[in-house]
Amino acid sequence: MMRFEELTSPEVDALDRDRKVLILPLGSVEQHGNHMPLGTDTMLAHAVSLAAAEKATGTLVLPPPWYGFSAHHMRFPGSVTLRAETLMAVAEDIVASLVRHGFRRILIVNGHGGNGGVIDVLASTLGHKHYGEARIAALTYFQLAREAIAELRQSEPGGMGHACEFETAMVQHIRPELVKIDRAETIYPDPGSRYLTTDLLGGSAIRVYHDFADLSPTGTLGDPTLATPEKGAAFFEAVASELAAFIEDFRGWTIPEPAK
Ligand SMILES: [Zn+2]
Repeated sequence: MMRFEELTSPEVDALDRDRKVLILPLGSVEQHGNHMPLGTDTMLAHAVSLAAAEKATGTLVLPPPWYGFSAHHMRFPGSVTLRAETLMAVAEDIVASLVRHGFRRILIVNGHGGNGGVIDVLASTLGHKHYGEARIAALTYFQLAREAIAELRQSEPGGMGHACEFETAMVQHIRPELVKIDRAETIYPDPGSRYLTTDLLGGSAIRVYHDFADLSPTGTLGDPTLATPEKGAAFFEAVASELAAFIEDFRGWTIPEPAK
């Protein structure tokens, strides 16, 4: 049993909460071009977390809060955004509840680039708040598996940004009926400076606000026409394996004594 919401309270009470790793998936509800569902990021973060938990036994996956920080998508219908402070507060309250019940290893698995700044702050503030009680780590799953993804991709830099080769293939793998591939359009956006990139694996040092409606008329960034279910299966397996390997490492991290 890997889904936290399916356990009973006595079952939680009986767990070895020192070694158990709890995953909190985060994502978004926002436009994903003309061809992909609004819930893509949360669905993928949850699915990847469950697949990793199957490989790294002794891992439980929490039910994800659906929404994320999506201000940069709000010019597209259907997008819903929390304020960054709201998302922080939601994650803080969930983690504090679990630490109170004795869980000591909590991993935020994020599937939405726009949450990146929030999870950086959460790792620091929650790590400080629960110092001596629990270790809190946060990652964006496609960054953890960036080398494996780079090997499998076919698009040029800029071809994997949003509702792109990567995300489209991943959803074709887990929920093929939700992808309208005949409506997919290729858009290589121009971010306006050689210092900026919109690629998922781009790694620019510069942090700046991109309004997605300025970058792309459909909201797609990249080349979803290169996506196939087979490629999605390969991306998914690579991501789940990298995540499982990290979970096994995280399970062994020391928890410092409470500060005096
Ligand atoms: Zn996405």
